[in-house]
Amino acid sequence: MAYFAHGSIEVVCGPMFSGKTEELIRRVRRAQIARQKIQIFKPAIDTRYDETAVVSHSSQSVLSEPVEKAIDILARLKDSTRVVAIDEVQFFDNNIVQVVDKLARRGLRVLCAGLDLDYKAIPFGPMPQLLAIADEVIKINAICTICGAPATRSQRISHNKDQVLLGEKDSYQARCRGHYEYELEDSAQLPLTSEIRPILEN
Ligand code: ADP
Ligand code: MG
Repeated sequence: MAYFAHGSIEVVCGPMFSGKTEELIRRVRRAQIARQKIQIFKPAIDTRYDETAVVSHSSQSVLSEPVEKAIDILARLKDSTRVVAIDEVQFFDNNIVQVVDKLARRGLRVLCAGLDLDYKAIPFGPMPQLLAIADEVIKINAICTICGAPATRSQRISHNKDQVLLGEKDSYQARCRGHYEYELEDSAQLPLTSEIRPILEN
């Protein structure tokens, strides 16, 4: 990526299993090789593999600091830190947008990885704002478990309806657009008005 001398926001997004965490770890390792002081954060609710490490589905890992709230990142920031990496950024509260922006304004390089869409294929939490204010966005695909095509959606295969359901291959599959199964109500980002409902239902 281009070098931003005055701070930057890079967002890696895509569905589950697309390699977001691998890409974040790759960027973290390169910053470490460059001897830049880096801090890595993740939301405390993500304890799937490890309490403190960021771990990819291919078992790569880096140590991280779990935090409850977005503003905790500012509280834990060390003066010498030049690069901040945040995994599973979609799980943070909306303050993450201001926190990330403030870090970049201070001249830090901010790396974020997160799901662009939830299991209903609706933009996830703060991701639309983060993607809009980013200097660099990369959207990566997984492989559709049904047909092998590039997958952009995360299909929930359990019946739980909560937006946040921590899980792995037992609960989710990567799917392409053709094999992602959605319900009309679920796919609506805004309430369906009487004007658009008959058109969509057609
Ligand atoms: P993410 O953080 O986007 O969920 P990870 O970086 O943790 O993804 O893991 C990506 C790795 O997951 C791939 O390199 C591959 O080894 C593995 N993997 C498992 N299932 C799939 C799939 N359906 N499509 C692509 N990669 C998969
Ligand atoms: Mg990940």
